[in-house]
Amino acid sequence: MIPQIDLTRQHAALRAELLAAAERVLASGRFILGPEGKALEAEVAALCGVRHGIGVASGTDALHLSLRALDVGPGDEVVTSAFSFVASASAVLHAGARPVFADIDAETFALDPAQVERAITPRTRAVIAVHLYGHPADMDPLVAIARRRGLAVVEDAAQAIGAAYAGRPVGSFGDLTCLSFYPTKNLGACGDAGMVVTDREELAERVRRLRDHGSREKYQHAELGYSSRLDELQAALLRVKLHHLPGWTAARRRLAARYSTLLAGLPLALPRERPPALHVYHHYTVRSPKRDALAKALAELGIGTALHYPLPIPGQPLFRSGGALATEAECPHAWQASREVLSLPCFPELTDAEIDAVAHAIHLAMNRIG
Ligand SMILES: *Cc1c(COP(=O)(O)O)cnc(C)c1O
Repeated sequence: MIPQIDLTRQHAALRAELLAAAERVLASGRFILGPEGKALEAEVAALCGVRHGIGVASGTDALHLSLRALDVGPGDEVVTSAFSFVASASAVLHAGARPVFADIDAETFALDPAQVERAITPRTRAVIAVHLYGHPADMDPLVAIARRRGLAVVEDAAQAIGAAYAGRPVGSFGDLTCLSFYPTKNLGACGDAGMVVTDREELAERVRRLRDHGSREKYQHAELGYSSRLDELQAALLRVKLHHLPGWTAARRRLAARYSTLLAGLPLALPRERPPALHVYHHYTVRSPKRDALAKALAELGIGTALHYPLPIPGQPLFRSGGALATEAECPHAWQASREVLSLPCFPELTDAEIDAVAHAIHLAMNRIG
């Protein structure tokens, strides 16, 4: 049995380091907004090529607080991807604004700049560029459109920490960038956590205030905020893992190259890395019109797979009414992707022998389903 993801291997390898970090925090007696969080914020901001990091409770909160920091609210529209995890759009609802869905580029699964242009109205305030599966969105045209139309850019880099575009790290393009440290992400906490990174001082200050009850000074509440901090225990564990991220990213890229060699020639669409993007393979996701039969055959052969995602966001009951540009006719690539995508086992500790076994099983399964 080869699982789609296995977090126990990573934690077994880092056990001593993680336990030492946890002990350090327990001994300090400091659990919220302390030195570990501050250090992690500086380290992650530096990785993203910007000056400020603000730890929050989740990637979803990072998106919500970013929109609030931009004063996006009722009456405003935000253009976001029709094909992503739900939070890329639900955060817009949380901010009181209206998500407007744009279709994806069928090859990279990221927002198609031409479709973004189509989705913009006089009410549009911001664009959320999702770097899905770890492949950066096409930032040059997206930033150019946003500049020309006076819109803010928010990067949803929940799946893409460490990725780059034209030699620059994701996180350095948007007005604000949102990271998730959900346990299965490329840098995962042992619980929920997230971060906003930005180079803009005033937006950083605003997110810092919003995450702590709208307060920068104890018991002085300037505005309605939230209780959304990244705690010291998670920060300390994440700092241990952050040292290993470059090695893990390299392992993911090797894994992807090995899959792509072994699966070449099959009637499957394989992930592409389109220049100038540097892909970090949060997922290695193939496409087939016979996806469901393939997943079933692989399960029978002991290979775990996952669907990211079985419905486009505007197809979710939550969004069925209300979103503009939300029908299958308007976002055909998103709908088609949701029927065809299949994520193979993908995590840095996967061995070459396991990758070979997965590829072998895929050859068998493809023969079987014809
Ligand atoms: C995981 C994820 C989020 C949300 O992050 P949480 O930490 O789970 O709240 C947002 N956007 C994308 C693309 C994600 O994959």
